[in-house]
Amino acid sequence: MYKPMITGIAPQDKDDSQELANAAWKSALATAVRDPRELLALLNLNEKKYLDKISVNEKFKLLVPLSYVAKMKKSDWHDPLLRQVLPLKDEAIKAFGFLSDPVGDLNAEVSSGVLQKYHGRVLLITTGACAVHCRYCFRRHFPYANSVPDKAQWQQTLASIKSDKTVTEVILSGGDPLMLSDERLRSMCQDLATIPHITTLRFHTRVPLFLPERVTAYFIQWLSELKVKVVMVLHANHANELDSEFASIMRKFSQCGVVLLNQSVLLKNINDDADNLVLLSQRLFECGILPYYLHQLDKVQGAAHFEVSNDKVQRLQQQLRERLPGYLVPRFVKEVSGKRYKQPLE
Ligand SMILES: *Cc1c(COP(=O)(O)O)cnc(C)c1O
Ligand code: SF4
Repeated sequence: MYKPMITGIAPQDKDDSQELANAAWKSALATAVRDPRELLALLNLNEKKYLDKISVNEKFKLLVPLSYVAKMKKSDWHDPLLRQVLPLKDEAIKAFGFLSDPVGDLNAEVSSGVLQKYHGRVLLITTGACAVHCRYCFRRHFPYANSVPDKAQWQQTLASIKSDKTVTEVILSGGDPLMLSDERLRSMCQDLATIPHITTLRFHTRVPLFLPERVTAYFIQWLSELKVKVVMVLHANHANELDSEFASIMRKFSQCGVVLLNQSVLLKNINDDADNLVLLSQRLFECGILPYYLHQLDKVQGAAHFEVSNDKVQRLQQQLRERLPGYLVPRFVKEVSGKRYKQPLE
């Protein structure tokens, strides 16, 4: 499922600096932490005390690059960044109503790897790979192998998008689209940008938070040359994720006209208090990003320990409205299978 992490990325760059830049992000991925013992050691957490609470999930293993580990607080078992990536034994709890495909993705596939739930926009599963395995991910059980397009399938995907003139926006998602090589991603984007009715390309990505090396000068360059509007929807959940390196990457995107938005997931004991959410919005704004959605947790199997009660969600929304300018209050939404838009909190 999440297999093609390092293999399958083989850009054919002629230019040396480009090659070096590519080598840098691939090496950052190769040295990402995959062993819970290593993670505990890096954070000065006592193995004897904590190893017992960690699960060995063979299908959706621990994966976290070192640059993200560096943003975690040492010796803090409750660190909000650690908690997003640490596979706890709690994941084995079978909670009522928590499903393997909670948002009906499999029913929304209009052709292989193309999901359409909403008018005017389609979402492409471009890869199954991510730079990190977020424990609450609603696609953690998604059968990527069947959906990720190979060359022949890509032609079909293009044909299906071309045939529907009501579609004006294509969302590149996954997995994480920035896990693809520049060659692959660029050629996908260029193919899409030549379709006359496509006016906007949107990326849904966490990579700039986890693997900043991936945002190479070449990537910024070809992105800025696309003849369509580009929207980048980041996915930060906590202000501690947004360091100065991240801010400088965002400045580069802004300078070439990319619209920057952020979606977060409300997660128990990670960001479910008003102070944290206020700080997150303010810090995003400093980085040139506007808060877009704050999702209520999708009820995916293995994530029940992240759920925040409805009462608390409502209280948080109220507090954010009282404390922030309207443009820094994210829309509180919930994805309901079969609905024609993400459902706002009543
Ligand atoms: C979330 C989602 C979108 C994006 O919805 P917006 O409201 O446009 O941000 C589009 N397609 C699918 C299938 C989605 O799940
Ligand atoms: S980066 Fe996105 S798709 Fe990948 S594991 Fe995290 S939430 Fe899921």
